[in-house]
Amino acid sequence: MDERTFFPLSLRTVAATALGAIEPTTRALAQPIHIATTYVRDADNGYSTGFVYGRPDNVTIHQAEALLAELEYADGAMMFGSGTAAAAAVLLSLPPTHVVAPRVMYWGLRQWLRGLSRYGHDVTFVDMEDLDAVRSAITRGRTGLVWIETPSNPLWTITDIEAVCDLAHRAGAIVCADSTVATPVLCKPLDFGCDLVVHSATKYLNGHSDVVAGAIATARVDAAWQRIRDIRLQHGGFLSPFDAFLLLRGLRTLDLRVTAQSRSAHLLAERLARHPAIRQVLYPGLLGHPGHSIAARQMTGGFGGMLSIRLGSRASAIAVAANVQLWRRATSFGGTESLIEHRASIEGEGSPCPDDLLRLSVGLEDPEDLHRDLTQALNVLT
Ligand code: PLP
Repeated sequence: MDERTFFPLSLRTVAATALGAIEPTTRALAQPIHIATTYVRDADNGYSTGFVYGRPDNVTIHQAEALLAELEYADGAMMFGSGTAAAAAVLLSLPPTHVVAPRVMYWGLRQWLRGLSRYGHDVTFVDMEDLDAVRSAITRGRTGLVWIETPSNPLWTITDIEAVCDLAHRAGAIVCADSTVATPVLCKPLDFGCDLVVHSATKYLNGHSDVVAGAIATARVDAAWQRIRDIRLQHGGFLSPFDAFLLLRGLRTLDLRVTAQSRSAHLLAERLARHPAIRQVLYPGLLGHPGHSIAARQMTGGFGGMLSIRLGSRASAIAVAANVQLWRRATSFGGTESLIEHRASIEGEGSPCPDDLLRLSVGLEDPEDLHRDLTQALNVLT
């Protein structure tokens, strides 16, 4: 990384220039993809470059990690083969402990946490927006980790990051935030006291629905970080160099994409809240959302590209999803194309997601087209 300026750069500039990397041999601006799985030893039997084997030594992956660390104001970052692998590495790196986790969170990880006892941990699920409930769930000397997700999937509840960090740290626990939905464009959890930030980079960080990837950023490169690094090495949850290249490419436009997606989601949320067929719009940017004032304090530049609508019944929700033309009926989120999903069908039994809810991931299309399509799809209910 070279040729940096001597004045501080904004997140948008840092991302757009991917840390200003220039390939030293040719001075190419676009970086090559390093695909080597092994590196030649020196004649004296050493490895003077520090590169030994493709797991974990890879320049393309290191470049993506360095960029994410900069965007999260982190001391270091690590890429993984998926967001799930990243989250699992955090939990597997801890000695047996008590974990406090949100009742409303990414369902796949919630399912995994439910079986956490097989790894020696026990877990308590709480309403993370209820600080009294969090306070009573955390036990000094017993709780080692508080897991938060804000805004949380798929109800978009908001956690007061600073307050939860304070409660956790007083009890000697660390806090890990799943910030997949906010991204560093809208929120930097380490700034509010979190110890770790996890991303499903499959979503906004890559942003084009063509890479499965995960990431962790840390407040401190210390012994605990090294344990996570060891888990990645031993469990092999690495990203492929080609995916790291695509991720770097996606990160260059992160700020523009997330800002535009948030703006469109906000516009749609406000309009849909006035639609007579919609019972409720869940979006933290709306003044009536219970977490709005906390979100306004800890998020900057928008409230995210995700919202949900409730239609009164499962049948109505499925009928509306069946009638969209532009929105795609698909799971996942954070890509350029807008997605609509009957979330309860995916989450299954035990989910806090109501049966009448459609989750909307707002893409980069013209929001007027997105609105027109939803309006015509909602006509099936009248
Ligand atoms: N965290 C959140 C908030 C998610 O929505 C997801 C996936 O949907 C994950 C983590 C898991 O990420 P991945 O699918 O990349 O394993």
